[in-house]
Amino acid sequence: MTARNHPSADDRAGTDVGSSDLGSIAAEQDAIPSRAAAAPVDEARIARAVREILSAVGEDPDREGLHETPARVARMYAEMFSGLHEDPRVHLQKFFTEQYDEVVLVRDISFNSMCEHHMLPFMGHAHIGYMPNGRVIGLSKLARVVEVVARRPQVQERMTETIANLLLEELDAKGVSVVIEATQK
Ligand SMILES: [Zn+2]
Repeated sequence: MTARNHPSADDRAGTDVGSSDLGSIAAEQDAIPSRAAAAPVDEARIARAVREILSAVGEDPDREGLHETPARVARMYAEMFSGLHEDPRVHLQKFFTEQYDEVVLVRDISFNSMCEHHMLPFMGHAHIGYMPNGRVIGLSKLARVVEVVARRPQVQERMTETIANLLLEELDAKGVSVVIEATQK
């Protein structure tokens, strides 16, 4: 279990927040897949692969208890990886324009994700704080951003960076802090 603080820029005055400290963050933007790059989830193909895995471990995929398993796993994967085919930025377009000079803190946004190293689920909570620069976003939109990012093959660290980058870019936030607490099953 780890928690990670995103570097915050909210102690920096003026207009140049995006250039130096955050330069390395900007370079990681390429890690965010675009909608166009990804093909839709092919459930029939997943089901065939699951059947193959069952055979490979020495099971009989035709025995009664496993009959529905490939299709069931395929539907589950389609949902757990649906974030590959969604752009989280769409949820950050309907912000309130408001001058607000304090940190907005949203705690305990729960998520389910899939570890990309073992294809095992991990779950937890995201805590997001940001210093707005005239743009404030609703709680439900933040939760949707976390959900879209979580529903991809993930590692906790990239999830944290991706969410922070999205808020910096789409809300033009003066500073962002994202902490993710997660446990892997
Ligand atoms: Zn893992």
